[in-house]
Amino acid sequence: MQCAPTQTPDVELASLREKYRLEAEKRHRPEGFAQYLEARGEYEEYFEFDPYSPPPPREPVSDEIDVVMLGGGFAGLNVAGRLKEAGIDNIRIIDRGGDFGGTWYWNRYPGVQCDVESYSYLPLLEEVGYMPRERYSYGPEIFEYCQLMGRHFDLYEHALFGTVVTSLRWDESIRRWRVGTRQGDDIRARFVVMAPGPLNRPKLPGVPGIKSFRGHSFHTMRWDYDYTGGDWRNPVLDRLGDKKVAIIGTGATAIQCVPSLGEYANHLYVFQRTPSYIDDRGNQPTDPEWARSLQPGWQAERMHNFHVGINEVFDRDDVDLICDGWSEVNRNIQAKREAAGWPEMSLEELMELREVEDYRAMERIRQRVDSVIDDPKTADILKPWYRFLCKRPCFNDDYLPTFNRPNVTLVDVSDTRGIERITETGIVANGEEYEVDCIIYASGFESTTDLRRRYGIDAIEGRDGLSIYDHWANGFRTLHGMTVHNFPNLLFTGWLQGGVSGSTTLMYDQQGRHISYIVGETMKRGAQTFEPSARAEADWVRTIKENLALDKAFWESCTPGYNNNEGLEVTRYTIFGEPYGPGYDAFDELIGEWRDEGGMQGMVLQP
Ligand code: NDP
Repeated sequence: MQCAPTQTPDVELASLREKYRLEAEKRHRPEGFAQYLEARGEYEEYFEFDPYSPPPPREPVSDEIDVVMLGGGFAGLNVAGRLKEAGIDNIRIIDRGGDFGGTWYWNRYPGVQCDVESYSYLPLLEEVGYMPRERYSYGPEIFEYCQLMGRHFDLYEHALFGTVVTSLRWDESIRRWRVGTRQGDDIRARFVVMAPGPLNRPKLPGVPGIKSFRGHSFHTMRWDYDYTGGDWRNPVLDRLGDKKVAIIGTGATAIQCVPSLGEYANHLYVFQRTPSYIDDRGNQPTDPEWARSLQPGWQAERMHNFHVGINEVFDRDDVDLICDGWSEVNRNIQAKREAAGWPEMSLEELMELREVEDYRAMERIRQRVDSVIDDPKTADILKPWYRFLCKRPCFNDDYLPTFNRPNVTLVDVSDTRGIERITETGIVANGEEYEVDCIIYASGFESTTDLRRRYGIDAIEGRDGLSIYDHWANGFRTLHGMTVHNFPNLLFTGWLQGGVSGSTTLMYDQQGRHISYIVGETMKRGAQTFEPSARAEADWVRTIKENLALDKAFWESCTPGYNNNEGLEVTRYTIFGEPYGPGYDAFDELIGEWRDEGGMQGMVLQP
C-alpha cells in the first residue's frame, strides 16, 4: 500500500527563517566542543566502571590472531559477520563491555528504544534468521539480538570482554599489530579493524561544581538502578518516590527516560537548552503474516529505502516502505511533485521545495506540542525552531504528556546557553538554585571531539612509530575511508571519507563487505600485508576535497549541536567526517567496481 503524505500547515518562510536564525544564535557558544568535559581523570567515575555485567578478573592473554576487532557493537558484529561469510574464522572482538552490544550494552536507561524502525536498523536479519518482535525495538531485545549475532557467527570463543585497549602498534619485525590492553594482554594481530562506534564515550557539561555535588549523580549510559529501583526490563523506579531528581539534556536519550522519571520521582526537573523534535511513536508488534510474506533480499531493499527516505529524494516510482517521521519531508515532496504532474525541476527548485516542506513539517510538530501540553508557556518552551534533521528527530508517545504532570518542572536554560553551575545541593540556572537529591546527565557523547579523546587509545602507531593522530593532524587521509598509508593491515569503520548515510547500520554493512574483501584477498594472495600507496591515498583525499558534499549553508544555519560542529565553522569535525560528494550509492558503486576489477588497485601487497 502506498504511504500517504502528511497534512502540514501553511507557513510564512521569511519570518520563520529569521526566528530560526535568532534561536540558533542565542545558543551559540564560541568555545564549541570545549564547553564539554571529558569523563576522564577526576570525572572518570561517570564512565570507568560497568554497573551491568562486568566479567570476572582473568589472566593476561598472549597469543596471535588473524583479525582483531576493536568494538563489539553493530559495527564490529556486522564486519565480523561478513568476514565469517568470507571464510575468515580466526576473529577476536575486544570490548570494554561485558558482552556484545556496544551502545546497546551500555545504554540501559528506562525506556531505551531504537527510534529507527527495527527491520531496517538491526543488521543482517536475514543472514541471522531473526525477525524483531516489534516495529521499534526496545533496548533489551536489541542487546539480545547482538548476543544472538555473537552466537550465530561463533564470535564468543575468542572474544575478550571487560577489556580496554590502550595501545596499537605495528611491529614490522613480525609484521603484526601488537594490541596492548589495560589487562596486560599482548595480542599479535595480523589485521585490526577499528569499530568503536560514534557514541562510545560520555561527555559532561563543562560547568563549575560538578565535583562539589553531595547528592547522587550518574550519566545515562551507566544507569544506576540500585539507586532508582527497577531494571531496564521492568523500569519501575520505585526508589525515587521521595527523591527530587534533575536531568540535564533533552536529546534522544532524555526523551526516552523522562517519562519513567516523571512517573516515579517525587519531583523531576528537566533542564532544557534546545527542545527536540517530538513526533508520535505508534509502535506495533510485528505482523507475522507480513513477516512470512517477505521475499529473500527484503532487508537490503528496506535498509536502502530508509536511506533514500532520509538522505535522498524519492523519485516518481519510489515507494516509501518505512512511512514514518524520518521520511515525512521526502514523502510530502514526492506527493507535491506528483500532484503537479512531475514537472522538470532544477536542483535549486528542488531545494526550495524541500525547504518549504521541511518548514511545514516542523510547523506540524510545533502545533502538536500545543495539542498535547496544557500550559501554553510550557508548550512554547518545548517547540523546536530549526530545520528537520538539524537535530536528531525523536519519536515518543509519553514524553510530552510528562510535562502535564504536577511533579514535573521544565527549566529553560537557553538564555544562558546551558545550566550555570552545580552546587553541593543542586543546580543553578537562570540565577535560581534547584535543590535536588540526584542529577542525571543526559548530556550526550564524544561524537565529534578530538579523535584521540573519542578513540580513547593513546597510541595508534603504524610504520616507524607514526601516530595516526599525527598522520591525520590536518585532516583525514585514507583510501575509501577505510585504509591508511603506513598503517598496514589496519581497517576503519565509521564516518571518515566514504559514502555517508544517516543509516549507520547500512554504512557498516557496506564497510563490512569491503573490509572482508580486502582481508580475504590479502590472505588468498598469500600476502602478509596490504596498505594503500601514498599516491592512492593522496588521490582519494583529492577526490574527497574536490567533491565535498557538506551542505555548509544548511548546517551552518542549524541550531548548534554535534551535527554542525556546535554551530561553528562546518568542517570534518561534524559527526559525518568528510563524505564522498556524489553520495552513498555512488560510493557503493565505486568500491563495488574496485572489487570487481580484482586488482586491489592502489594497494601495495607484500609477501
Ligand atoms: P545529545 O548529545 O543528543 O543530547 C545532549 C543533551 O544535553 C542536549 O539536549 C544538550 O543540549 C544538553 N546539554 C549539553 N550541555 C548542556 C548544558 N551545559 N546545559 C544544558 N543542557 C546541556 O545526547 P543523547 O544521549 O540524547 O543522544 C545522543 C545520540 O544517541 C542521538 O543523537 C542518537 O544518535 C543516539 N540515540 C539514539 C537512540 C535511538 O533510538 N536509536 C536513542 C538515544 C540516543 P543542546 O541540544 O542545546 O546541545
